[in-house]
Amino acid sequence: MVYTSTRDSSVRVSAAEAIAKGISADGGLFVPMTIPTLNLVDIEKLARLDYIGRAKEVLKLYLTDFTDDELSMCVEGAYKAEKFSSPQIAPLYALNDTANILELWRGPTCAFKDMALQLLPYLLTVSANKTLKNTKIVILVATSGDTGKAALEGFKDVPNTEILVFYPVDGVSPMQKLQMTTQEGNNVSVCAIEGNFDDAQSGVKSIFTNREIEQKFKENHLAFSSANSINWGRLVPQIVYYVSAYCDMVKSERLKLGAPMNVVVPTGNFGNILAAYYAKQMGVPIGKLICASNANNVLTDFLTTGTYNKNRPFYCTTSPSMDILISSNLERLLFALSEQDAEQTKALMDQLAANGTYTVSEKIQKSISELFAAGYCDDTDTKRTIRKIFDEYHYLCDTHTAVAVNVYAAYKMKTGDNTPTVIASTANPYKFSKSVLSALENNIQSQDEFSMVEELHEKSGEPVPPQLATLKGKTPRFTKVAAKEDMAQVVFEMLGI
Ligand SMILES: *Cc1c(COP(=O)(O)O)cnc(C)c1O
Repeated sequence: MVYTSTRDSSVRVSAAEAIAKGISADGGLFVPMTIPTLNLVDIEKLARLDYIGRAKEVLKLYLTDFTDDELSMCVEGAYKAEKFSSPQIAPLYALNDTANILELWRGPTCAFKDMALQLLPYLLTVSANKTLKNTKIVILVATSGDTGKAALEGFKDVPNTEILVFYPVDGVSPMQKLQMTTQEGNNVSVCAIEGNFDDAQSGVKSIFTNREIEQKFKENHLAFSSANSINWGRLVPQIVYYVSAYCDMVKSERLKLGAPMNVVVPTGNFGNILAAYYAKQMGVPIGKLICASNANNVLTDFLTTGTYNKNRPFYCTTSPSMDILISSNLERLLFALSEQDAEQTKALMDQLAANGTYTVSEKIQKSISELFAAGYCDDTDTKRTIRKIFDEYHYLCDTHTAVAVNVYAAYKMKTGDNTPTVIASTANPYKFSKSVLSALENNIQSQDEFSMVEELHEKSGEPVPPQLATLKGKTPRFTKVAAKEDMAQVVFEMLGI
């Protein structure tokens, strides 16, 4: 399998190089030049395997330069049963006749990011051994809350790596902040940025592509990589759970083998939904890809009009992991839908950088409207949805998942589409206790975060994940706040260079 860059068609790298580097030197993203396929017989076979077995088979198709032993070591290390609160790793919960909740938050940090970030350190270590000898890998992360913690947990004390996480100082929930600032491990660092997620992400991207910094790193036997979903090693594990969800739908007889399934994804950086797109391209019978946004509805507008425009107010919502106006992974979709036209993709990305807006060709717009549906939901409707789902089904969902459930209900109402549907559930509700509790109760008694956790537990009966409960009373290790202009300096300080 050969990978290229979305911005330079002359680039040719292996999967290991794509993962070790994280981003192409031209600023583009690495993408496979061909998409491997699965037919119905393959899917039937996969349905008989457990999650680890399915993961090995799917990853093998993309990571062709990894040996079977290497892949087994990676996958078995990442999805160890004791790290997940469900033996199925990513279980499906049947909500009603058509809606099925895919619980992607059963891992160590209670967010769907674990599905990829438990595996990425293994993939990256194997990749670095193949491509970069005697080099320490420095992982830089920009986070809207969940990636940071999941990456810290995945990379803590992994030999030959250092990890530094930047988060927007006012852009994460109290629980997310506490999870990050109390992180243990000898190779980890966390720093708040005065700015929003887009500022943090742009800062990290510009450090990655700065030639002077690269030179300084080389002299010190260091190399950057990324744990954000711009890294192919983040995306490929996410394809697995859509394949696996289809297998489980068939196995539980909610679907006949070959019948279509719709997918709804609460979206920020467009990584999770892009993985569903790749699963569809592989041959998994996926119908509509339904993109759900919060009040930062730049993707709803783009997918319905063909014009992307980030020049709009930025809202801090109750679903902070989706408070994003520059969705990095859209670049990979544009590349795919332009029949891998790197020049065209680069031109659109240059327009985005210069003017904050671009419009795709009619041809791309047509493909988008066939593949995708899109909608958004504000905080008031998010709250109502959490309440409704709890009252009707006694199912407690977090704010991000509620956005998806709401957008799905509106889609179903508008189109009458009764196709069995999988809704990606991306976080455990206790990561956002205040918002979830205020949806269930008009007058919250509690003042602090952990009394809210307790109150939500009493109200809902839903177990509190021990890894969140034990954060109570922990003293933060990392309290630094930096200006967004000083991010490179923070990196040098952490590394002592
Ligand atoms: C990261 C995240 C999202 C958005 O996922 P993308 O891959 O960035 O689209 C949604 N919900 C939660 C809880 C997240 O952590």
